[in-house]
Amino acid sequence: MHKKLLIPGPTEVSKQVLEEQNRPLIGHREKEFATLYGGITDKLTNFFQLTPDIKPTITTSSGTLWFDIIGRSIVKQKALACVNGAFSKRAAQTLQACGKETDILEVEMGKAIKPDMITEKLENEKYDTVTICHNETSTGVRSPIKEIAQTIRKNYPDVIIAVDAVSSLAGDKLIPSEIGCDLLFASTQKCFALPPGLTIGLVTDRAIERAKTVPNRGAYTDLVDIFEFEKKHQTPFTPNISLLYALNKRMDLLLDETYDKIYQRHIDMATYTQTWAKKHFTMFPEPGYESITVSCINNTQNKDIKALNQQLAEKGYLISAGYGALADKTFRIGHMGEWRLEDIKQVINLIDEIWEIK
Ligand SMILES: *Cc1c(COP(=O)(O)O)cnc(C)c1O
Repeated sequence: MHKKLLIPGPTEVSKQVLEEQNRPLIGHREKEFATLYGGITDKLTNFFQLTPDIKPTITTSSGTLWFDIIGRSIVKQKALACVNGAFSKRAAQTLQACGKETDILEVEMGKAIKPDMITEKLENEKYDTVTICHNETSTGVRSPIKEIAQTIRKNYPDVIIAVDAVSSLAGDKLIPSEIGCDLLFASTQKCFALPPGLTIGLVTDRAIERAKTVPNRGAYTDLVDIFEFEKKHQTPFTPNISLLYALNKRMDLLLDETYDKIYQRHIDMATYTQTWAKKHFTMFPEPGYESITVSCINNTQNKDIKALNQQLAEKGYLISAGYGALADKTFRIGHMGEWRLEDIKQVINLIDEIWEIK
């Protein structure tokens, strides 16, 4: 039996979106492709209310490629990487693996990054790039990205602000021009409710101008090259055309539902899950900074999550254990993508039955 995925990626994909991938292939240098691709980037522009100085692109890759893109094409002299969990740590390590000098601002797991922490670092050292994870999937923490970006922009206007929004974009409401960031990216297997394999990047002209001054950008990670091809509604290398068909369809569905309603749906699912969690357990994130796409719950009752998942599997569902070091201490319920409140209620009812909690 298929287990429906309430994990923080990959998430459930609807049949109609999956089936879009069965279309015959087209040449990626043909006019037909430019029409498909340009249509998708127009829809992204519309959905994310992109201003003319912010451009969308789609890479055939998972989200992690963008850590490399930042390391290769954005960081010039020195970066500040904010770390509050496993994914933001991966970002920091990737910048270093690209040979870029990187200082780390680390806070305890479960805590959010706050504007004054970054200001303190920027006051004492010159950084050209700051990386932040908006929604730390490993801890379920959502950092106040708008406040952070506005503080940096106001006091350090030359700093490029790069945001990992992999597990929040298109679920949580993020409008790049309102946030005031330079680069924001998300892979398709999370809130976009598509199979893995594509990543959406929203990038300011400022960031592209910066990239032009950074040497050794590599090939697949060359942001300048990516946006040169964008002008022709193409990608530098052969993209996953089948998945682009699925994304095209998914963008229609997202636009039909509207970003405000999608955002509200995610708030409703998170509120329900977290109200339940607080009644029987406690939340892992510091209060007020809980993600609306994934709930990370302290396993205060020492429940056997593996056994729970075995029983849930019989009903056709899968939830997530804690990430890495938090494996047994926490468990996570992903409520992102196409899920609705009624589905979440149903799954939580099942958990109540299995654990015999009232
Ligand atoms: C899943 C995730 C990633 C990694 O994305 P991939 O598409 O698996 O490479 C990075 N950051 C966050 C916050 C994530 O949730």
